[in-house]
Amino acid sequence: MSRLAIDGGKPVIDWQIPRYNTMGPEELEAVSRVVKSGNLSQFLGEWDQDFFGGPLVREFEQKAADFFGVKHALTVNSWTSGLIAAVGAAGIEPGDEVIVTPFTMVASATAILHWNAIPVFADVNPHDFCLDPASVEKAIGPHTKAIMAVDIFGHPSNSSELMRIAKRFNLKVITDSAQAPGAKVGGKFAGSLTHIGGYSLNYHKHIHTGEGGIVVTDDDELAENVALIRNHAEAVVEKMGKKNIVNMVGYNFRMGEMEAAIGMAQLDKLEGLVSSRESLARELIGYLRHLPHLQVPDYPSTIRHAFYVFPMTLDTYRLGTERQKIIDALSAEGVPGIGGGYQNIHRLPIFQQRIAFGGGGFPWSAFPGRPKEGYGVGITPVAEHLFDEAFMSIGMCMYDFSSDDIKAISDAFTKVWTEMGFLK
Ligand SMILES: *Cc1c(COP(=O)(O)O)cnc(C)c1O
Repeated sequence: MSRLAIDGGKPVIDWQIPRYNTMGPEELEAVSRVVKSGNLSQFLGEWDQDFFGGPLVREFEQKAADFFGVKHALTVNSWTSGLIAAVGAAGIEPGDEVIVTPFTMVASATAILHWNAIPVFADVNPHDFCLDPASVEKAIGPHTKAIMAVDIFGHPSNSSELMRIAKRFNLKVITDSAQAPGAKVGGKFAGSLTHIGGYSLNYHKHIHTGEGGIVVTDDDELAENVALIRNHAEAVVEKMGKKNIVNMVGYNFRMGEMEAAIGMAQLDKLEGLVSSRESLARELIGYLRHLPHLQVPDYPSTIRHAFYVFPMTLDTYRLGTERQKIIDALSAEGVPGIGGGYQNIHRLPIFQQRIAFGGGGFPWSAFPGRPKEGYGVGITPVAEHLFDEAFMSIGMCMYDFSSDDIKAISDAFTKVWTEMGFLK
């Protein structure tokens, strides 16, 4: 064919692909209206009509609840805050165990630790990278109180199976849909299918407000608890008449009026952005599916994938080439946003050394022998294999790809696959 760019040949893609940017005149107009009003936030950390925030925050929440088809949507200043609030709202106590995937962003697990509860890692499916319900079931023990599912890369996790398990063992299911706003299962939105879920609005995601997040739930009590944890619960519960004050230690997780105004303009764009991600991803699947030893997404038509990331797995043994060499060769051909791995949270120093709050191993030191499975290498072999050698991805919310760009990316893959012998 032709010389690989990494060996001095001409790269397949020699043009600049524009960055993904969802901001436009609508957001500019929304922000200027807020600034002109002088009212940039209206939250009050007391039992008052402003306890639930300013007019735009409340309007955005109503709009989000209608959009996602849930009873309650609550804005927060980040989805990390949303996760912390959701775990606290679910009544998770010190020493309770929460089952979580290791193949995610760290906040899914640290939100559990923040309540001095113990994260227990279960393994993922090799095809959708989400929690494997069979592995979850095996990880359930006498201290298990909840499951934290993650709709990783935009693929909805198997919430119907997880909810069935939860019902049997009386657990709560929290869904981290940070990467899957607009993804669906059988017509219903990912994130809305378990007891409580939500979305990130940070600037890396499909739609954003710079920083921000939305918690969604159909459960009145969970919604009330989130509203309290978001806004100085301890100073509010008495006048509110709240009887159960477990975990009513509040934070300031409040969203401002500017973010809410931007968020409403962004929500109007979500449907279009997700369907364009999915159709670009389908084009790429069509081009790449014939390449040997490369697994591209394959999901049923009942699922709508949000494709935050285009995930792939390599059979590096059969290819006879290491992942990093393939990634370097693809990058040299001009393929943007390509990367390997994806962390395994249990292998981070915080879990390996059990140093979280203070130097004395808290919270683990207070609950000796837990989690039973430990955090050693080998507890989640599928996730570890993906991290160590098989997983590769293209960020779909990093660049504003056209169909021509996608075709060129596939040409770069074909070139690297044809010339793979030169990479050894
Ligand atoms: C982005 C992300 C978060 C955190 O969201 P922030 O809004 O950045 O706090 C949590 N979980 C996953 C899977 C994410 O991708």
